Amino acid sequence: TPGIRPLVAGNWKMNGTSNSLNELRSISGGFMSGLDAETEALLCLPATLLSRAAEILHRSPVKAGGQDCHAKESGAHTGDVSAEMLKDAGASHVIVGHSERRTDHGETDDIVRAKAEAAWRAGLVAVICVGETHAEREGGTTLQVLSRQIEGSVPTTATPVNAVIAYEPVWAIGTGLTPTAADVAEAHAHIRERLAAKLGASAAKMRILYGGSVKPSNASELLAIANVDGALVGGASLKAADFLGIAEAY
Ligand code: PEP
Repeated sequence: TPGIRPLVAGNWKMNGTSNSLNELRSISGGFMSGLDAETEALLCLPATLLSRAAEILHRSPVKAGGQDCHAKESGAHTGDVSAEMLKDAGASHVIVGHSERRTDHGETDDIVRAKAEAAWRAGLVAVICVGETHAEREGGTTLQVLSRQIEGSVPTTATPVNAVIAYEPVWAIGTGLTPTAADVAEAHAHIRERLAAKLGASAAKMRILYGGSVKPSNASELLAIANVDGALVGGASLKAADFLGIAEAY
C-alpha cells in the first residue's frame, strides 16, 4: 500500500532453545548487511528466549516480539506472561489473537481486544490476528467472520503506530495451502474497509499482513497483492535462509 513501510514478521511458535539463537544471529546478519532497509523486520520468539534474543538484536534492525500476553499487568496467573514482562525482556511487539491461541486456549474476540489494550499499556505494538476456518471459507462466510473479528478484536483506539493486523486463514497456517491471489485481495480489501469504518481515515495507513504458508517461493506473489503490507511467517521463520528469502521478495 502506498506510504506504508512493509513489515516481515516471524513467529517461532513453541520452537527454539539456546541453540536456535545462531539462526537468529544469521537472520539479524542478513538484515544488517542492508538486505532491505525499506522493510521492517520482527521475530516473535518464545518467552524463554526473549531477553537473550533482545540482547543479540540490540544493534540490529530486526525487532524482538512476544507471541501472546495476559491482559493483566501482574498477579495470580500461574504460567502466564504479561505485556509488561515482555517489554521488560526487550520486546517491542506482541502477537495477540493468533488462531492457535483462539483454538488451543479458547480466546474470544473480547479476550483478544483486552490483550491488545494490555500491549499498549506496556508500550508494545499489538499484532492482532484474524482469519476464517476452512469450514467458514467453504460456507462462504469468510467476510462476515472477518467483520466480526475486526469489530470484536480491534480496540477503537487502534492506530497505524500501535497496531498491525494480520490476516491468517486458519486453514492456510502450517498446511502449505494458500488462498488464491484474488481471495487474498478480497479479504485484505474487506479488512481495510472494516478498519476504516471503525477507525476512520487512519485505517489507510495501518499495516495488514498476510500469514499462512508464506515461503520464499510464493512470497513475491503474495506480497504484491493490493493491501498486503507484509507477511506473518511461521514455519519459514525458523530458518534464516527462508526468512531472508521472504524479506528479499520485496
Ligand atoms: C503463523 O503461525 O502465523 C503462520 C502463518 O504459520 P505458517 O507460516 O507456518 O503457516
